[in-house]
Amino acid sequence: MKNAIGIDLGGTKIAAGIVDEAGTIIARHEMASDLDDGDSVAKQIAELVAALGSKTELGIGIGAAGIVDYATGHYAFGPNTGLHDLDLAQMVAKETGAHVRLDNDANCAAWAEHRFGVGRGTRNFMCVTLGTGIGGGFVIDGHRFRGAHGGAAEIGHVLVAPDGPPCGCGRRGCWEQFASGLAMERVAREEVAAHPESALHGLDPLRGPAITLAARDGDAFAKSIVDETAKWVGWGLGSLVNVLEPECIAIGGGIVRDWDLFAERAHDAMLERMEASSRRPAPKLLAAALSADAGIVGAALLVLDEDA
Ligand SMILES: [Zn+2]
Repeated sequence: MKNAIGIDLGGTKIAAGIVDEAGTIIARHEMASDLDDGDSVAKQIAELVAALGSKTELGIGIGAAGIVDYATGHYAFGPNTGLHDLDLAQMVAKETGAHVRLDNDANCAAWAEHRFGVGRGTRNFMCVTLGTGIGGGFVIDGHRFRGAHGGAAEIGHVLVAPDGPPCGCGRRGCWEQFASGLAMERVAREEVAAHPESALHGLDPLRGPAITLAARDGDAFAKSIVDETAKWVGWGLGSLVNVLEPECIAIGGGIVRDWDLFAERAHDAMLERMEASSRRPAPKLLAAALSADAGIVGAALLVLDEDA
């Protein structure tokens, strides 16, 4: 069985694993990311590859947040990594001597979920990563969809409110300012002063996990924030269904462990925004099965699929 190395390059950590063709991670290692420049990233990836102790030279697939051109290995822009305009695949190949492929991290996660998770057997599939921000990956007619230059499926930056809050991408009113973990925290901070009875009152910093935990315990204010976020999640999904009409939508990212709190409201809101929702089947809305491993597995598949 063939193996490859998958690297999940994020703003706070770099996770690496040796992955086999069945999608199993057989060794893993990670480190806090130090994203000064392309050279430092290439060196860290080389260190991780060495730490994995692979005896033979394995190909390396990398998933990185932002605008990544798979065809050229060029990393154009990463709002959360602070990196831009790097020939990253080339730099890592030079540092490690290995064959290297680079893609967007959410595209990688979606493909992994399509191959081994809840998207198995579908031809049209969407994976939505709800974490600090919102990422997306599409499978269309059984193929990965990247767009002309690797910038497709940046669904977090679809406009939902022209005068909405500023976004990390430099514009205003993007979907991720209403439906992400960060959005949930912002709304909680803005409104908590009016809810002294809430368990969230006085918390500093006020983070997403505290909000979902309080909602689970029946805190009315926390529940209202979860419901509001779920509504925005569903509205956005409904619009995306009007564009792509997938058979199934997987929800991944940090929110996945609390998805049960969001699922019903999000599903109802998705139907509200789907054209002719009573006259066509709605996509299944499911928690992703691979969770945090999808990034590593999907990155390794960039190389494993080439050899297949
Ligand atoms: Zn944006």
